[in-house]
Amino acid sequence: MGKEVYEKLAEKILCKGSKIIPQLFEMIADETDAKILLALPGTIAEVKSRTGLDDKEIESRVQELFKKGLVFKSKKPEGLKYRMCRDLGQFHDASILWSGATQEFYDLWQRYMEEEWPAYSVFVEKFLKKPFTRVIPIEKTIPARNQVLSSDSVQEIIDKTYRVALTKCTCRLIAHKCDKPVEVCLQVGKAADYTIERGTGREISKDEARKILHLAEEAGLVHITVNKASEFTFICNCCGDCCQVLPLLIKEGRKLCDPSRFQAKVNKEDCNGCEICLERCWFKAIQMKNENGNSFAVINPEKCMGCGLCAIKCPTQAIQLIQVREKEFVPA
Ligand code: SF4
Ligand code: SF4
Ligand code: SF4
Repeated sequence: MGKEVYEKLAEKILCKGSKIIPQLFEMIADETDAKILLALPGTIAEVKSRTGLDDKEIESRVQELFKKGLVFKSKKPEGLKYRMCRDLGQFHDASILWSGATQEFYDLWQRYMEEEWPAYSVFVEKFLKKPFTRVIPIEKTIPARNQVLSSDSVQEIIDKTYRVALTKCTCRLIAHKCDKPVEVCLQVGKAADYTIERGTGREISKDEARKILHLAEEAGLVHITVNKASEFTFICNCCGDCCQVLPLLIKEGRKLCDPSRFQAKVNKEDCNGCEICLERCWFKAIQMKNENGNSFAVINPEKCMGCGLCAIKCPTQAIQLIQVREKEFVPA
């Protein structure tokens, strides 16, 4: 087996033809690891019959590969079943958080994000029926509280889950393009179990989680989650500089993230023209207008993602979020 084994691994996560993804695999998996990964999904016994390797060796390698983020496990009636990371997103998020990841590994990932990801994201956008992530608004910026559904509320996600873990933001960890806080990503429920078991995140109380959300809002980070009304595995707190999703949306209109069901609205009578909101908006959705010598902010509905970051810092409370999309906008 030579380099082609790593090309096969890249192919397995739908990255055929990538120059960098095989190199990333090669940095953290030797050829025996690669052989095991190619034999997945399966139980230890199934991998043994496919590879001819000793079951003790498979067992210990699979444990290491789990820590590296290359293998995921699930309990099945026939025993523990293992599978390889299913796509680029899982490979990215899970391997970057591995405690043994080196700076060289981070740098190669960042090279991938700059050289190959922009073109690959075009394929991802076409492949998905709906963007895989969605903005969640800052709740207190929505005056009509009855319009806020569970799927619109980070507070409810935290209230309802049985467990929360805190991890580092994988995008900022490798990109370093801004000075925003790095340890602010929340994993909830099963995702928290997973990250705690791997040692890539630490369990935190719900109160601590609420403080992290507040800190993220103050720092100007956008709450983003899975684009489903009934599934919550993470609350990312994203910036427009380092994120794998937002800069492509801002610069190229690539739709890998849906807006929230809300949109900012400015009451021009209350606006004092201070322009604080302009600096808070990653999406360039706010412009200043001048009428009769009075300057005031105007929202571009095409660009507004309904995050609420502008509204929480408006000194005159001139901005509110209003509902503009129905419940059905968020996939069930
Ligand atoms: S998606 Fe956002 S919060 Fe999540 S890892 Fe990337 S920048 Fe960080
Ligand atoms: S922050 Fe508020 S007061 Fe200042 S320009 Fe924006 S809307 Fe107007
Ligand atoms: S105008 Fe910008 S900051 Fe305000 S809610 Fe819309 S996207 Fe967010």
